[in-house]
Amino acid sequence: MALIVQKYGGTSMGSVERIEHVAGKVASWRAKGHQVVVVVSAMSGETDRLLKLAKSIAPRGNQREFDQIAATGEQVTIGLLALALEKAGVPARSYTGWQVPIRTDSAYMKARIQDIDATRLRADCEAGIVPVVAGFQGIDETGSVTTLGRGGSDTTGVALAAALKADECQIYTDVDGVYTTDPRVEPKARRLDKITFEEMLELASLGSKVLQIRSVEFAGKYKVPLRVVSTFVDGPGTLITLEDSTMEEPLISGIAFNRDEAQLTVAGVPDRPGIAAAILGPVGDANIEIDMIVQNIGADGTTDFTFTVHRNDYERTQEIARKLASELGAKGVKGASDIVKVSLVGVGMRSHAGIASKMFKALAAAGINIRMISTSEIKISVVIDEMYLELAVRTLHKAFGLEEAREPT
Ligand code: ASP
Ligand code: MG
Repeated sequence: MALIVQKYGGTSMGSVERIEHVAGKVASWRAKGHQVVVVVSAMSGETDRLLKLAKSIAPRGNQREFDQIAATGEQVTIGLLALALEKAGVPARSYTGWQVPIRTDSAYMKARIQDIDATRLRADCEAGIVPVVAGFQGIDETGSVTTLGRGGSDTTGVALAAALKADECQIYTDVDGVYTTDPRVEPKARRLDKITFEEMLELASLGSKVLQIRSVEFAGKYKVPLRVVSTFVDGPGTLITLEDSTMEEPLISGIAFNRDEAQLTVAGVPDRPGIAAAILGPVGDANIEIDMIVQNIGADGTTDFTFTVHRNDYERTQEIARKLASELGAKGVKGASDIVKVSLVGVGMRSHAGIASKMFKALAAAGINIRMISTSEIKISVVIDEMYLELAVRTLHKAFGLEEAREPT
């Protein structure tokens, strides 16, 4: 018998029929002898609707009240699911965040969980009752309702699993797992049986929006095995877990990409101490996030300084860079906003040489020019022209054998 936390997302809660379908799933896990604690999101679209209502009165109103309003979406779905479970013959009891209680700090709309009192949930499990807990919400020390940021129910699920020392946290959603890359770009993309927390973080931060990033960080920190599964199609999903040294790790787990990039080069900057800080300081001060940075030395004692930012910040960054260039006596500013970043991710890279050269060779053979490169322990990223995105992803997917079924480990 295992203790399992199951989190059902907004699409899974999207209608009364779907809620009854979820109740059936919970009932079948219980019938197999497992203890189940359920966490739910609001019905899909509901949180957007509630926040829109709030903003229609006061766009920049008191965030405490925004949370009071936004948290009601989940209060509805916990009650509905508890009713559906009882109807399916499963004793159930619904809990808002403050009834558990899930204590958070007071950073409204992006609160962090500080402490969970799992006493009542444990007692319910012992008594054969399924607790149904509202995701996304908690209570601060002043007694005000807080929310954890959009997509925060994933974090509630993982935090409850950690507090209850559950055997697994299952995230039920509308996709059947984590894929080697986006199937819309490469139809041969394959569902991964298993991936490490670290790899998932790299894939998530690069745009594979299956899970809220914070929930993956949380799961890694507390070593909660996390499984992404479909509510609608039966299957094993993808297990996100710790690296297991007894297994033969695949070299590459996936290919992530990001279309929202823009590149700027401050050319011919005098090559002296403090230049990097002089350029990046004002950009950072304008609250513009910098992603990749490359600096190289020219023959004439000057350097070209290239970096990437979010495409939405491109124009603003260009203005800052032009101003800096004239102050620093640089030759000028060049830029491009039709670029993308493509990344190979895999923990197997740590112990294997030659991955980068294989990647660059494959891209070259496809006639794709690399504009920038950056590497970390488990990731190699290249910046290329946007028009080559699909070609690059498919080329790499093939070169690294990602479409082939792996040997069972
Ligand atoms: N209902 C919240 C949202 O839409 C939380 C969640 O679904 O995870 O962001
Ligand atoms: Mg979600």
